[in-house]
Amino acid sequence: TLSNSKVAERNKERSLIMIKPNGVQRGLVGEVIKRFEQKGFKLVAMKFTQASEEHMKTHYKDLEKLKFYPGLCKYMSSNPVVPMVWEGLGVVKTGRVMLGETDPAKSLPGTIRGDFSVHIGRNLVHGSDSVESAKKEIALWFKDDEVVTYTAGNNEWIYE
Ligand code: GDP
Ligand code: MG
Repeated sequence: TLSNSKVAERNKERSLIMIKPNGVQRGLVGEVIKRFEQKGFKLVAMKFTQASEEHMKTHYKDLEKLKFYPGLCKYMSSNPVVPMVWEGLGVVKTGRVMLGETDPAKSLPGTIRGDFSVHIGRNLVHGSDSVESAKKEIALWFKDDEVVTYTAGNNEWIYE
């Protein structure tokens, strides 16, 4: 069996979840936050901000060779977004499940993209695709002291 500190460590995985400009415009900020809260993940950072196109180009650097990349970066910087850091056991993988597929048409009802979006270029929300990329993305969007360390009061009701 794992020691208590190992268990605590495992529960500290983090993902960058970001509400895209259309999620803000369509009044779905609370809906997205609600789903991650109700799941039992812990919010450790959040901001409301309009990013520069350069910032978005860095965020999506892995996609720079794809044809939709310029339009994607322009769109993502055209209006405010809500980047957040959520923490918990398996939050990267589970967060992606909660979002749904990249293409909303392939996303099941019950997922955020499946419930609230139609087009791949307007799929409402971003989620890190690996623990490694989450670390990079969190460092891009938040200074160290903007990610808050605190004890969640509901911890023992979520983890065995
Ligand atoms: P994600 O990790 O599920 O967000 O998907 P990717 O990392 O592959 O792509 C980043 C974002 O680019 C997606 O969330 C989409 O908004 C957008 N995107 C991906 N593929 C396409 C595409 O074929 N066409 C358009 N217009 N946008 C796309
Ligand atoms: Mg991605």
